[in-house]
Amino acid sequence: MSGEPLNIVRFVNSKVEYDKGALEGLLLHPDVKDRKLIFISIVGAFRRGKSFFLGYCLRYLYAHYKSIKNPHNLINNPNWMGAADTPLQGFTWRSGTQRDTTGIIFWSDVFLVDLPNGEKAAMIIADSQGLFDTETSTADNSKIFSLVTLMTSMEILNLQGIIQEDHLQYLQFATEYAKFTTNQSGQSQKPFQNFMFLIRDWSNPDEYPFGYEGGRKYLDEILVVKPHHPAELKSVREYIKSSFDKLTCSLLPYPGKTVARDSNYDGRWAPMDEDFLNELKLLIPKLLSVEHLTTKKINGIDMTGALANEYFQQFLNIFQSSTVVQPQSIYETTIDKFMTSLVNRCFDIYKNFVNNSVNGIQNEDQINNVFNTSKGSAMSTFDNEKKMGSPAHAANYRAILNTRIDNDSVGWKGTTMAKILKVREDQRRAEEAAREA
Ligand code: GDP
Repeated sequence: MSGEPLNIVRFVNSKVEYDKGALEGLLLHPDVKDRKLIFISIVGAFRRGKSFFLGYCLRYLYAHYKSIKNPHNLINNPNWMGAADTPLQGFTWRSGTQRDTTGIIFWSDVFLVDLPNGEKAAMIIADSQGLFDTETSTADNSKIFSLVTLMTSMEILNLQGIIQEDHLQYLQFATEYAKFTTNQSGQSQKPFQNFMFLIRDWSNPDEYPFGYEGGRKYLDEILVVKPHHPAELKSVREYIKSSFDKLTCSLLPYPGKTVARDSNYDGRWAPMDEDFLNELKLLIPKLLSVEHLTTKKINGIDMTGALANEYFQQFLNIFQSSTVVQPQSIYETTIDKFMTSLVNRCFDIYKNFVNNSVNGIQNEDQINNVFNTSKGSAMSTFDNEKKMGSPAHAANYRAILNTRIDNDSVGWKGTTMAKILKVREDQRRAEEAAREA
């Protein structure tokens, strides 16, 4: 295993801080920046086996994919669980009740994946710590949870025992964001990709068997809207469903008392209860095999490492600066970022055409031709490119592009016209001088 945990996003006195250099080191790595991003993260209360689970995920990943630190890794090793007595490495996990970090911890190695459709992707894995414990305020919890939801393409909510109503409330931000995007843009796509409830120590396998299938039935039962539900519970359920492309649930058995209670336990799989070991071996490939991976989209736009770097920093800056983060401000910011860069690209098309043609212009008609052709090409690129947001957003940014081009043209039209007039004047004088001579 050739990576280490990096605490890139931290909470210090309720303020988000992040390590810009470390984030860029991952997302702008030469092997990552142009690949589509897959981002897998786990959230939930501390001391519930999150890091332990991710440790086994890393075993699977190193047995199946190359990575930036292991570009020549031997891949597709069916014996991915390794030897029964090998201590578990990876994200720091430990017995005891003290948490060590608060925030989002990224694995420093990024996995390089060739997707079945031929696309190249890069996969980031992140743990989150310090959530939902007695020392973390509700506002901080919701900040970490919201940030993770915005960044990931597969979010795992790790819970002990059962899904409770307040666990669904954790998804408030996601559902608010979904409400907003649906109302504003009328887009049919859902704002977030995959979400999995991972239930540990499941104690009711007779009714809902362990694994995915039992989890699906259990989740269906939780998310069904019942006639006696008050309006608030109904709307939470409806919006959770409209927030994520895919909602799943997996039920894991109790791992056995060595795993759960032995303070000297080192993570090896030898002492795990057989049920637990079997379910772990089934669940992890279902989550991480290449056909189950989902790339990150933000408002319908595919993220590469480089694009994600811009958007994530934008989000982090918003979370850094405000105590209460409104889904609306995140939504508007992402649209502004995307549409401003589209406007800039279209403006460059116009400007390059003008710069290449301006020297050959000899009369007013040619000025108009160059202007009309360059502007036409910029505007039609804008019209044909993929956009983010509602038709009203598109019209607004189209007007910005239009005005920017018109304003810019005043300068070069004026100097070109002055040149034409000067050439004409010089010609007239030359002719006059010739006549006089
Ligand atoms: P985290 O704080 O959520 O990341 O928790 P850790 O992964 O550090 O694990 C905390 C403790 O829970 C360790 O002693 C693990 O051995 C133990 N543990 C791991 N998985 C499970 C599980 O499924 N059930 C129970 N009861 N304990 C677990």
